[in-house]
Amino acid sequence: MTIMKRVKPAGLFIGKLKYEGDLLGEITEFCIKENIRLGRIEALGSVQKARLGFYNQETREYHFFNFNRPFEITTLVGSVSMKDGSPMVHAHITLADGKGNCFGGHLAAGTIIYACELTIEAFDGPELERGHDEDTGLPLWEMEE
Ligand code: ZN
Repeated sequence: MTIMKRVKPAGLFIGKLKYEGDLLGEITEFCIKENIRLGRIEALGSVQKARLGFYNQETREYHFFNFNRPFEITTLVGSVSMKDGSPMVHAHITLADGKGNCFGGHLAAGTIIYACELTIEAFDGPELERGHDEDTGLPLWEMEE
């Protein structure tokens, strides 16, 4: 069932992330520090190497893969919500190589920043807590109408 909730803007943040930092880790750390419990994320820049995930819908397990080379971040989009009482960042990323070939997936720890410009929009609204979803096996938002 499709369920949507109304939220209100609660502030915008813009900045650059630390050279050689872990991309997912730096964003998550900032959200915890600023107590951003609901929001959306957008970023661009480049990475030194990447670790991405793909959720296998048949086995219901994430398969992770590594690229040990630089890429441009052409798009990073994500959300901030709550899991186990703490802000959790869920982000997907598209990366381009020197020939314009793109790869993408679920952003995992182990993706190392070369340069990154990040925007986060925080929201006031219902707290979205992640819990086990029977249909998919994923930790999706537990929402009621
Ligand atoms: Zn994902």
